[in-house]
Amino acid sequence: MKLSNSAQIETLVQIKTHPFQATSFYLNTDKGEQSFKAINAAYKGLINQAKLNLEMKKIPREVQKSLQEDLEKISNFCTSRLPSWKAPGVALFSCSGKNIWQELELPHGPRNRLIQDFDFYTRPLSVILGRYKTLCAFLINRREACWYRIHMGEIKLLESLTSEVPKKVKKGGFEGYESKRIERHIEAHLLEHFKKSAQKTFDILKQNNFDWLLVGCDDQFYPQIEPLFHSYVKSKLKGRIKSRPGTKPSRVLEECLELEENLTKKEQQELVNSLVAELERGGRAVSGLADTLRKLNNYEVQTLLITHNFSKSGRVCPDCHGLYLNEELCPVCRVKTVVATDLVDEAIELAVSRNIPVVQVSRPSRLEHYGNIGAFLRYKPQI
Ligand SMILES: [Zn+2]
Repeated sequence: MKLSNSAQIETLVQIKTHPFQATSFYLNTDKGEQSFKAINAAYKGLINQAKLNLEMKKIPREVQKSLQEDLEKISNFCTSRLPSWKAPGVALFSCSGKNIWQELELPHGPRNRLIQDFDFYTRPLSVILGRYKTLCAFLINRREACWYRIHMGEIKLLESLTSEVPKKVKKGGFEGYESKRIERHIEAHLLEHFKKSAQKTFDILKQNNFDWLLVGCDDQFYPQIEPLFHSYVKSKLKGRIKSRPGTKPSRVLEECLELEENLTKKEQQELVNSLVAELERGGRAVSGLADTLRKLNNYEVQTLLITHNFSKSGRVCPDCHGLYLNEELCPVCRVKTVVATDLVDEAIELAVSRNIPVVQVSRPSRLEHYGNIGAFLRYKPQI
């Protein structure tokens, strides 16, 4: 199954594995980024390490047996399925004692890890989902309107409506008055159709929590439709597309994804530019890993910007989750820190858990000249 919505994550979170435990496995299977040999070595390394950890755990025999079986299943999955695995990432969730097994295809490679704990570890899934926008495509012509939901490369028709708008009559004839009256009659119907559709757009946006709205309609209608949008709808309005009611969904999807990519790139660039401007004038911003982590630890970060796939090892405090480049002892709680294979990933998770927006910027960008990481701050730094 493909990872496509937060309901899938919610389902995993709700699963109770008690009295047994849960195994969560994440593997980067992006064959464009690494050799198949490296992928194999990575999963074998994770499983061997997990086996060692398991032997040292002091837990009841049945719980241990269930966890051991999870590792066997994951190992079997990797041997048999990875050679033909197409997605750039995989997540597996297993609790053999309760006969639970779930496979998820991930749209991009996660950090490799295998965690055996009381519950399933789902935070990486939320981080991945957070990278994708949910779009609403609203297509309208003089009689029909339809709404699509587009998320992670998939399209779904949400609703459609057809209004009784009379066809246009040819002008002329001797009864000028009559033809004007008919025209007004048509105009009124058309306006009613637009009003109804604008209201429906508001209802749909409110129900579905979309990030962006894209509108597909003829140029002649747009100036009539746009003023009918509620201010909430206007705040989501991001652009116009060529699709109309009747356009094949696959074509609508293609057009929306293309626009999403362009707009996202533009948005990222603008954000990086304003970060750089803020840095240069000594304003509410910070850059580089050491400084950014310090601000993140101190709850000063407002928005975090990271070059996509930037990674660096470091240390993390098991108590307060403080992140450090090389502090052996947490300066806040004086607890010994532990090694974090990917400090940047830990930073993303910490930010997400505190509801701080994280923007992953595609290369190339100016952020690379500023240490690949930076943040807008809530307060002006004390100098
Ligand atoms: Zn600490």
